[in-house]
Amino acid sequence: MDRPQIRLEFAPELHLFVSAPRRAGRSELRTDGTSTLGHVVESLGVPLTEVGALLVDGRPVPDAHVPADGEEITVAAVARPQPVGAAPRFLLDVHLGTLARRLRLLGIDAAYENPDIGDAALAARSAAERRVMLSRDRGLLRRRELFAGAYVYSHRPAEQLRDVLSRFAPPLVPWSRCTTCNGTLSAVAKTTVREQLHDGTERSYDAFAQCGDCGQAYWRGAHHARLEAIVTDAVREFGGAPR
Ligand SMILES: [Zn+2]
Repeated sequence: MDRPQIRLEFAPELHLFVSAPRRAGRSELRTDGTSTLGHVVESLGVPLTEVGALLVDGRPVPDAHVPADGEEITVAAVARPQPVGAAPRFLLDVHLGTLARRLRLLGIDAAYENPDIGDAALAARSAAERRVMLSRDRGLLRRRELFAGAYVYSHRPAEQLRDVLSRFAPPLVPWSRCTTCNGTLSAVAKTTVREQLHDGTERSYDAFAQCGDCGQAYWRGAHHARLEAIVTDAVREFGGAPR
């Protein structure tokens, strides 16, 4: 059987995944005549979690399309914001602990496993709990079991946070979740958490909250100015808490 020759163009957002010759406009490729377009794109290094529309001669086709000779193919980046439900939940791999704590700081449900439980267990948890898997590991993002996945584009936590907030537009409810364990916080009386407080804290503050899962006490003013700045910046750019 003849091997079809196709021409491919990738959106600029996807250029970091492909080899240099495929970043400069359309490039040619011979396929095996049986592989799907999804497989062809993935085999060139692009996680399908990052791919939006696939266009053949300007018409959208599914991942399962088998390219035919002469087709002009455009691979678009995933649209932002990407809808994944009203209050998206996340699962982060072992390398994204700082991002996990920052998401929790904003009240976003961000499960995080450390030590590493392995790709298979992560993918299974993503599926079972309908969590978007966040990772910089393309191999993990290829796993078919994932409920959904997203490549985290930056190494830097501040940029990672903006990436996730702009991509999924989760509702922000700052100071409502435990940054240590991802449990939810409830207001409590000072007496409930007294044994966790230093003398100065007990005298200076009256509004206290406690994690329903691990029991950690929180109080207004307990947060470093840096955390206040992270919250202020995120709310300014991506919207505040619902009432
Ligand atoms: Zn907790």
